[in-house]
Amino acid sequence: MIWNETVECMSREEMRKLQSLRLKRVIERVYHNCEPYRKRMQAAGVTPEDIKDIKDIVKLPFSSKKDLRDYYPFGLLSAPMSEIVRVHASSGTTGKPIVVGLTNNDLAVWKEVGARCLTAYGLGQNDIVQVSYGYGLFTGGLGAHSAVENIGATVIPMSSGNTQKQIMMMHDLGVKALAATPSYAMYLAEAMESSPYKREEFNLRVGVFGAEPWTEAMRREIEAKMGIKAYDIYGLTEIMGPGVGYECECQCGTHLNEDHFYPEIIDPETGEPLPEGVEGELVFTTLTKEGMPLIRFRTRDLTALHYERCSCGRTLVRMDKIMGRCDDMLIIRGVNVFPSQVESVICELEEFEPFFFITVDRVNNTDTFEIMVEVKQEYYTDDMRSMMELKKKIAHKIQSVVGIQPDIRLVEPRTIERSEGKVKRVLDKRVFKN
Ligand code: ADP
Ligand code: ZN
Repeated sequence: MIWNETVECMSREEMRKLQSLRLKRVIERVYHNCEPYRKRMQAAGVTPEDIKDIKDIVKLPFSSKKDLRDYYPFGLLSAPMSEIVRVHASSGTTGKPIVVGLTNNDLAVWKEVGARCLTAYGLGQNDIVQVSYGYGLFTGGLGAHSAVENIGATVIPMSSGNTQKQIMMMHDLGVKALAATPSYAMYLAEAMESSPYKREEFNLRVGVFGAEPWTEAMRREIEAKMGIKAYDIYGLTEIMGPGVGYECECQCGTHLNEDHFYPEIIDPETGEPLPEGVEGELVFTTLTKEGMPLIRFRTRDLTALHYERCSCGRTLVRMDKIMGRCDDMLIIRGVNVFPSQVESVICELEEFEPFFFITVDRVNNTDTFEIMVEVKQEYYTDDMRSMMELKKKIAHKIQSVVGIQPDIRLVEPRTIERSEGKVKRVLDKRVFKN
């Protein structure tokens, strides 16, 4: 099912026209209403008259998270405060939170793109959706919430936490879809298994998972545990929260709502635009935002774009599933390591639970790389020899994928703290030593 066929299946040419028109409008808006943007455009020697087509976007300067911090809290608003009806803040995964302001029209756009996502996951009026993203400043809860209401489904506004009650509500109310971070979904899957209810007693069929990177291996793991189909939903506070992108039934990339959020891929080092299909840093320009439009905002997320029509019929551009951001990457003994690589190895090995924690340190001028991982109950024994074998097996597998050998610490199931929101899987002690 497609929520807005006109836009989601629009020809490339029409889409370009729409994007060009909207880009012109948003540039006028920021130039006349937001001093930091005007000054920056003036410094780059660009005026709104220079922007006639979406292609002209490359003339405009970039913006970044730093700008949102520098002009904290409201310096980048392009609408008067009287028109701002809601404020959100980023979860602050990578530092001080940033604040955004939304107008009523911004909220309407958000509901619209959210409805496109849920419809693509096969959800409709007759379904019950439990929103277990945190409600509050974080965009996850309220963002998913209004999308559910917009398609006319029933929303259970659970927020995160209180895991036993989450399971009870899912069971008792016949919840069909769960919206949560993949790491919280994994925690809930585990809690479902040890609950008094049998899996067949749940009506759960669909997962609406996002807000953090998750691998294909993790997807299969959650799908098998919960007996559902799990879909990706992508978003970020600065641009709009959940609903910027979504998977369709083909699950061959994440469609971006490019009539509202124009994507580009650039080389993160040079800032040069990269061609279709090449991986680089994702950059967004909000084409219709009123409260706090962002022009060429550098997300730090790494992905590639694909423009050919999808087998689902949608023409909206697709990006590869995001496996990490530039700032997630660890450099250990000179080797680039992404936590997602470790995740995929662990999920693929039968003997381990999909929970782990990486600690990096520097001892005697050498980087240390420790991974704590849970062994499944049936494999956990007091027999040193078998535990040593397990250690060797996983260390070897990880080395073959990331290129360096980790120190493995095997622990019993449920030792590692479970996440109810965005999971934190890395402690880099080196940052305190510089
Ligand atoms: P913070 O940057 O503080 O985490 P946000 O809550 O705005 O604040 O998080 C947005 C970021 O979360 C994105 O830039 C991206 O790195 C990550 N993210 C969101 N959805 C997904 C997803 N579906 N897959 C991978 N990463 C995601
Ligand atoms: Zn598709």
